[in-house]
Amino acid sequence: MPPYADPPPAGRRVTVFSLGGTIAMTGGPGSGVVPTLTAADLVAAVPGLAGTGVTVRVHDFRRLPGASLGFDDLTALVTAARRAVDDGADGVVVTQGTDTIEETAFALDLLWPYDAPLVVTGAMRNPTLAGADGPANLLAAVTVAAAPAARRTGCLVVLGDEIHAARWVRKTHTTSPVAFRSPDVGPVGLVAEGRPRILTRPARHRLDADVRDPGTVRTAVLPVVLGDDGATLRRAGSGLDGLVVAGFGVGHVPAAAVAVLTDLAAGMPVVLASRIGAGPVLAGTYGFPGSESDLLSRGLISAGTLDCYKARILLHLLVAAGHDRGRITATFATIGAGD
Ligand code: ASP
Repeated sequence: MPPYADPPPAGRRVTVFSLGGTIAMTGGPGSGVVPTLTAADLVAAVPGLAGTGVTVRVHDFRRLPGASLGFDDLTALVTAARRAVDDGADGVVVTQGTDTIEETAFALDLLWPYDAPLVVTGAMRNPTLAGADGPANLLAAVTVAAAPAARRTGCLVVLGDEIHAARWVRKTHTTSPVAFRSPDVGPVGLVAEGRPRILTRPARHRLDADVRDPGTVRTAVLPVVLGDDGATLRRAGSGLDGLVVAGFGVGHVPAAAVAVLTDLAAGMPVVLASRIGAGPVLAGTYGFPGSESDLLSRGLISAGTLDCYKARILLHLLVAAGHDRGRITATFATIGAGD
């Protein structure tokens, strides 16, 4: 497989699913923008799309802000996207709110069973603003979804002409048009002169799990904070099916919170991640009460290199699949390893 993708060969077919988000938001003066545009509107606003030779089909799937998407939307989306590929699409593009792309894209990466590219994009500037980035992002996403070299890469996130692996990408700025970064690895490719270039192939992490009714499962990410005595964790933790605790640094919590986490980990999977957003949770460097080695010896599961939000997505899907603690630990050891 050559590292570079050629321009999409003639006759490629891509299906675009629109879910809402800033890319599809408009509004009158004085009123805030809300999702209004259809998938057809989004595609019609892209200069140069016809020149790619890619045949684009559109599907209005949801019209929501990213914050209001949920797991049931995603499992329904995977079903619809599979159907599109079964019907002949070479790739799929999803347009949605950027607020949740780092989570939705990773869930889609884990759930997507096909070799065909699944590409998520959005916009930081809505269509009413100067420098709206939606059309350029959609054009780039379509060319990536149509590219044979993007096959077998799982879910990719394309914004600002960069191609990111869903497994690593994060939204790192509230307003900047270059908000999407992969702090641990950087982008896996770029789009230039209409040509996608996959510079490094991300490892594929498809989940081997039968995920049912993910909307009924309760999981959470809870950060520890300065002076935390664990009381909030105890209160919030009861009633959950699984918890990701976002510790300080390499995976530390205050000594006063250790007993609570030990109790919680006895009753449900509790994953130890970091609040930092880059770098791994360690395993055996520190030995004080509340250190990473202490917590892992008490039954917490290491998130490895997964950030706390991605760890929660993985945990949620595994719990929804009915996996026991042994399988959950083994899956985190594999996917969290970062290979
Ligand atoms: N700011 C968000 C966006 O960029 C809003 C949303 O996620 O719907 O799309």
